[in-house]
Amino acid sequence: MQDDSRPNFPPLTARMGQACYYHSCFKGDAAPLSRCGGCRRAAYCSPAIHQLDWSSHKSLCKTIAKVEASITVSALFADEIVQEYVRGFTKQVLTCLRLSQRLLLTGSRSLTAVEETLIKDEPRCMVCTRTDHLMRIEAATSGTTSEGLIPCPDCSFSFCCSSAHWEAAFALHHAPCDDARVGTRSQCQINVELRTQLRFENVLAKERGHGRRCGWVPARVKAAWTSLEGSTWESEFGDELRKFYKIPAWSPTAPWIRMVSDTLSMAMTILYGLEKLNKDDAWTRKKTLTVHILVGPLAFECHASTMFEEILHRLPEVKTLKIVFCGPTVPERVTENCETCPQCTRRGNKRIHEYVVQTYHQFVERKGSRFEPPDLCVAFNSAVPVSPQWTHREKTYQLLVDRKIPSLFTAYNREEAEMEAAELRMDGATLHPALGTMKNLWGSLHPLPAPHKQYGFYTPSGWVAGGFN
Ligand SMILES: [Zn+2]
Ligand SMILES: [Zn+2]
Ligand SMILES: [Zn+2]
Ligand SMILES: [Zn+2]
Ligand SMILES: [Zn+2]
Repeated sequence: MQDDSRPNFPPLTARMGQACYYHSCFKGDAAPLSRCGGCRRAAYCSPAIHQLDWSSHKSLCKTIAKVEASITVSALFADEIVQEYVRGFTKQVLTCLRLSQRLLLTGSRSLTAVEETLIKDEPRCMVCTRTDHLMRIEAATSGTTSEGLIPCPDCSFSFCCSSAHWEAAFALHHAPCDDARVGTRSQCQINVELRTQLRFENVLAKERGHGRRCGWVPARVKAAWTSLEGSTWESEFGDELRKFYKIPAWSPTAPWIRMVSDTLSMAMTILYGLEKLNKDDAWTRKKTLTVHILVGPLAFECHASTMFEEILHRLPEVKTLKIVFCGPTVPERVTENCETCPQCTRRGNKRIHEYVVQTYHQFVERKGSRFEPPDLCVAFNSAVPVSPQWTHREKTYQLLVDRKIPSLFTAYNREEAEMEAAELRMDGATLHPALGTMKNLWGSLHPLPAPHKQYGFYTPSGWVAGGFN
């Protein structure tokens, strides 16, 4: 079963100008592309395709071109951005976004999520974060011409503005990273793997009409709960995937597993957390299992949510799975009794999703004495310091600790996991030794590259920041 409720973003290659930007094309690598003459950001495989995309691309294109053409705006832009160099990437992206938004069509509308990615994922120098756009502005100001960014000769996914900066970044970019999910590989190797993966998923999207967040769940109910200790993505899903997608025996399942792990990771992480935080397996025999999810800024937890059915499929004694999605960015929806697979329907199993557009502590306060603690409260990739979603997070942490609610937090990488674990401890949490700061066995296998950093990358729920009860 599948769920395609989420709009498919252009693949990273397209967002970086290395594949055709048109939504039903995304041709890349081998295809000759030309940059849009207006913004010099988006690339297209032919003038005809460029024309097809024009109505949706036009306003952002003109804005980007306007920023570059206007001397006053350029000076402001360059100045503010240059100052942000030293303060790190995230803040700088926000500055870009704010400026572009302010300028966009006299501020009559804000950027769409897809447009934001075109700005956020603009190739940058790994050392100083200069972009092609900024290099052209700088060159124009000093009366020279810009050669543009130099891509990595091995992966073409990371860039430097000069050979001097490549000398500074090369070794680290090629050094083994501890963020790697499997083995220790370098950021450069992950970039190469990811490029292959994106190509695979693009072909699949065209052939079968669905993408990475397909919400695939094997349509089977297990006879009994079995511990996840010692099992792997391949051992749990390899055969099911082969059957469902009719993958021939000679073909490896790795790209498929990588694809489905991206969403299934949430269901598997919840199960793993429940297993570790419970002393015995009484939780596997409850009639109703309740999970509260602290939803992040993109609310991806609410999309492709079909895959939460995997929780029911592994707990045959549980009749009802109730998931409460909670957070300011949660879409406003009424409580749904979700459609289930034929087997669950036959068994009378229910998957109920409730949507709460509030922070968690507001939700708990509002419920008052009617608040029923969940079997698990989970936040995926929550250690994102800039997200307004988490401005009240100390309050939420405190509440979870005070009420002894079994909780689990995941992070994109080691650095963020360690930061989050420290915060949790500061708020009084005693982290479970098996859920301390460590790689998450059930993290996504689909890495998010970090073309703007010299080392490392991100993996959705790649690390467990901490769990406690
Ligand atoms: Zn353009
Ligand atoms: Zn195209
Ligand atoms: Zn540089
Ligand atoms: Zn590289
Ligand atoms: Zn089912």
